[in-house]
Amino acid sequence: MHPIASYDPVTELPQRQMFIKYIDQTLVDLVRKKKVLGAVLVLDIDGFRKINETYGLDAGDLILHEIGRRLTGAIQPCDMVSHTNGDEFMVLLALLGTDRLAAASSALKTAEKLHSILTEEPFQTGEVSLFIQVSIGLTILDEHSAKISQVLQEAGMALHMAEEKGGNCIVFFNSRIQTRITERLSLERDLAAALKASQLHMVLQPQYGQHGQVTGAELLARWTHPVRGSISPAQFIPIAAEAGLMRQLTCWSLRVACKTLVALQQRGVNHPLSVNISPQSLLQPDFVAAVKTILDKTGAPASRLIFEITEEAWLDDLEIAAQHMRELNQLGIRFSIDDFGAGFTNLTYLRRLPIDELKIDKSQVQDLPENMDSQAIIQMILGMARQLGLRVVAEGIEMATQAEFLFQHGCDALQGFWMARPMPIETWMEQQAK
Ligand code: C2E
Ligand code: MG
Ligand code: MG
Repeated sequence: MHPIASYDPVTELPQRQMFIKYIDQTLVDLVRKKKVLGAVLVLDIDGFRKINETYGLDAGDLILHEIGRRLTGAIQPCDMVSHTNGDEFMVLLALLGTDRLAAASSALKTAEKLHSILTEEPFQTGEVSLFIQVSIGLTILDEHSAKISQVLQEAGMALHMAEEKGGNCIVFFNSRIQTRITERLSLERDLAAALKASQLHMVLQPQYGQHGQVTGAELLARWTHPVRGSISPAQFIPIAAEAGLMRQLTCWSLRVACKTLVALQQRGVNHPLSVNISPQSLLQPDFVAAVKTILDKTGAPASRLIFEITEEAWLDDLEIAAQHMRELNQLGIRFSIDDFGAGFTNLTYLRRLPIDELKIDKSQVQDLPENMDSQAIIQMILGMARQLGLRVVAEGIEMATQAEFLFQHGCDALQGFWMARPMPIETWMEQQAK
C-alpha cells in the first residue's frame, strides 16, 4: 500500500489502520512489558451532519482540518491523533505512568483540555465563525486490555454514553458503564418480548373527594420480569421510549383502560379513568386515529377517559400537541397535566390547550403542611386553577394532615398511599360494585 493511503487527505492525520497499529505496538511494548498505562480517547462532533448540510462540505472539511491541527498541537510527542472516520477522531495517550488512579485522572484532564480547545474557540469558515460541540469517550489501556478491538469497543461505548447524556461531555469507560449498557440492551429485548407475552399489567390507584367518595382512578403500568421480578415504570417507560416500543405500550395501556371502562359501565359504575400518555405518543402523526380505533373496537365511552400528560409533551411541538389534543377533546377525552409543579411550567399553555385538570406533583405535597413555601405554592396553584376553571387533583398524599390542608384550600380530589395504594383492577372493581 502506498504510504499516502495511511494519511487522511483532509486532516493530514494518520487514518484508522495506522492508528490501530500504533495502539497495538503500545499495548505490547509499554503496557504489557513495562506495565506503563495509556488511554484511548474517541471524539465525535455533535451534529456535524448539520454543519455539512448548512455550510457545505468545504466548510465541513475546513473544520475537520482545523480540529486535527488543534488536537495535534495539544498532545505530547509520544501520543497520536488520528482521523478515524467522518467526524470521528481518536487520540492515544501513551505514557501515563504506572499508577492507575493517576493515569486515569491525567487522561481525564487531557480529555478536558482537548474538549475545551475544540469547543471554546470558534472555527472560521469563510465569513462564518462557528462553535462546535464535542462528545468524548475514553478508556484506559492497561495489561488487561487484551485486544485492540476491546479497547476500541470500550472507548466507543463511553462515547455512546456521552452522546446519550445529551452530548458535549466526556465519559470515562469502566466496567460499570459496560454493565449498564449491556443490561439496558437486554432489558430492551425483554420489554419487547414482555409486550407480546403479557408480562405487563395495569394496576389502579383510586382518587377520592373531600367526603371520602371515589372520584376516579389512575391506571399505572407494572412489569413483572421473569428473572428480575418487578420493574418500576419509572425505569421501563424510558426504555420503551428509546427502544421504539412506546407506541405499542401506549396502545396497550389504552386498550386496558377502555376495556376497564366498559367493565365498569356494565357494573353501573361511572367513574372516569386516567391513563398516562407519553409525550412521544401524543405527538405521533397517527395518534388520534389509533385512539379512535381503540375506542371503536372496545366501545368505551371517551367522555370517561382522562389522558395524563407531562409538561414536556408540548415543549417540543406545541402546535402538533395542541392540534392532537383538540381533536381528542372533540371525541370527549379530557386532559390532565401530570406532575404539575415538578418542573418548568409555562402558564400560557394553560390557556392555549384544552386542559381540564392539573395534577399536583408529589414533590409539592410532601412537605405539607409545615413548609411555608409548599403552602404558598399549593395555594397559588389552587387559586390559579379556580380562576381558570380547572379541576385539581393532588398526588402522593401520605398523611392525613396533607389531605386536610389540600381539601381546606379547595383541592378537588386526592390520590396517595394514605387513602389507597395502587391495587389490581379487579379488586377495585369488586369494591365499586358493592
Ligand atoms: P405518575 O403518573 O405521576 O404516577 C404517580 C406515581 O406515584 C405512581 O408511581 C404511583 O404509584 C406513585 N404514588 C402514588 N401515591 C403515592 C404516595 O402516596 N407516595 C409516593 N411516594 N408515591 C405515590 P408508579 O406507578 O411507579 O409510576 C411512575 C410513573 O411512571 C408515573 O408517574 C407515570 O409517569 C409513569 N407511568 C406509569 N404507568 C404508565 C403507562 O401506562 N404509560 C406511561 N406512558 N407512563 C406510565
Ligand atoms: Mg400520572
Ligand atoms: Mg404524577
